[in-house]
Amino acid sequence: MSKLALFGGEPAVKNKSDDIFKRNITKEMEDAVLKVLHEWKMSSIDITKEFETAFADWHQMKYGLGCNNGTSALHCAMFGAGIGEGDEIICQSTTYWASCLPAFSLGATVVFADIDPETLCINPDDIEHRITSRTKAIIVVHYAGYPADMDRIMPIAKKYNIKIIEDVSHAHGALYKGKLVGTFGDVSAFSLMSGKSFAVGEAGIMLTNNREIYERAILFGHYERHSEIENPELKNLSGLPWGGYKYRMHQMSSAIGLVQIKQFQTDMVEIDKAMNYFWDLLEGYPGIRPHRPPKDSGCTKGGWYASLGRYIKEELEGLSISRFCEALRAEGVGTYPGCNKALHTHPLFQTVDVYRHGKPTRIAFSEVDVRKNDKQLPVAESLQKKVFAVPWFKHFWPEIINQYADAFKKVIENYKELLPGDTGDPEDLGGWFTSRR
Ligand SMILES: *Cc1c(COP(=O)(O)O)cnc(C)c1O
Repeated sequence: MSKLALFGGEPAVKNKSDDIFKRNITKEMEDAVLKVLHEWKMSSIDITKEFETAFADWHQMKYGLGCNNGTSALHCAMFGAGIGEGDEIICQSTTYWASCLPAFSLGATVVFADIDPETLCINPDDIEHRITSRTKAIIVVHYAGYPADMDRIMPIAKKYNIKIIEDVSHAHGALYKGKLVGTFGDVSAFSLMSGKSFAVGEAGIMLTNNREIYERAILFGHYERHSEIENPELKNLSGLPWGGYKYRMHQMSSAIGLVQIKQFQTDMVEIDKAMNYFWDLLEGYPGIRPHRPPKDSGCTKGGWYASLGRYIKEELEGLSISRFCEALRAEGVGTYPGCNKALHTHPLFQTVDVYRHGKPTRIAFSEVDVRKNDKQLPVAESLQKKVFAVPWFKHFWPEIINQYADAFKKVIENYKELLPGDTGDPEDLGGWFTSRR
């Protein structure tokens, strides 16, 4: 093997184009967007409704509600599920803030649970002892495309009669034991923003089979479609949005979505093939593990959003992940350590009084100080030095993928050379967002 590029050797990645990371934009998609423009239908809801039906049909769910982003879809899902003042929702601390933060404006609070160190999804063993009489829902995030352990989570919700809200923003098209994620809980919400794997622009969608959740979500942030509400009690009080929010989806996004729904099935297969091919090449190399479900599990990662690898520094004599990633970047691999920081470590979940209730918003309506739970989240707190970003291949082009895998092999095979100059990891790895690219 040649010398490490960090020390002046030839970089392993010769590929200079980023085409392999780009998604397919078709003529059909362009035409669909322009049609909305020419018909001046950006704020209408006819195409959105078509998109909702197509997206719901794909998941074999009854109701879909298009929203202007994933955050608002989650807000609608929470209100739809009946979350309100004094309620608690349980959510993993390692996630993007929108998984739980909309609860604040409903007067609810967040009880954080720890993650499983391999799946990076909520640890089913860390849920039950956090349930109280105030717990209304568990937010299940299929983190970085990995389907959460629904067989263990669903019975807990049933036992305590609490709702499951799935945040599917990372896992469009992913299967849990052969079944699409986003179809297990009482309601699910998806971000469809441009960075996600099923991407249509700034947009989101909520899915449910529960008519009451659907109608309450409409009541909350979709005044323009209050005529759909059938429940007489709600209908009598409709006309203005209860939440005071306007969450209508932009129809250029809906138009892209209608095309995307046809394309995604094949795009996803290619991404899955490319990513599995990459990881298979690295099978058995010390220091790294794929973040993917076992092959015969019936679980898949869909479009492999925010793909991560797990780093085990003990297998490389304690080489810091920062040094490891630095060497990879020199080889031409765009990677960095960390992912979403544990939310409970941010002051917003500890001290900030957002609405001037005279106390931190997190506990504004709590009978007990839920912040005391935050002491038991060791896996979430130590995660940033244990994961790194992986190239997100959109195309199965083996000659190019080989180069990226070669870069990893080269760095791992020559890791001893990296030890002397290793100054360790900075305290602050990871971020409050999902992606830095
Ligand atoms: C992106 C994301 C959201 C929010 O979606 P937006 O469309 O950006 O509002 C929610 N949850 C998770 C886990 C996300 O990654």
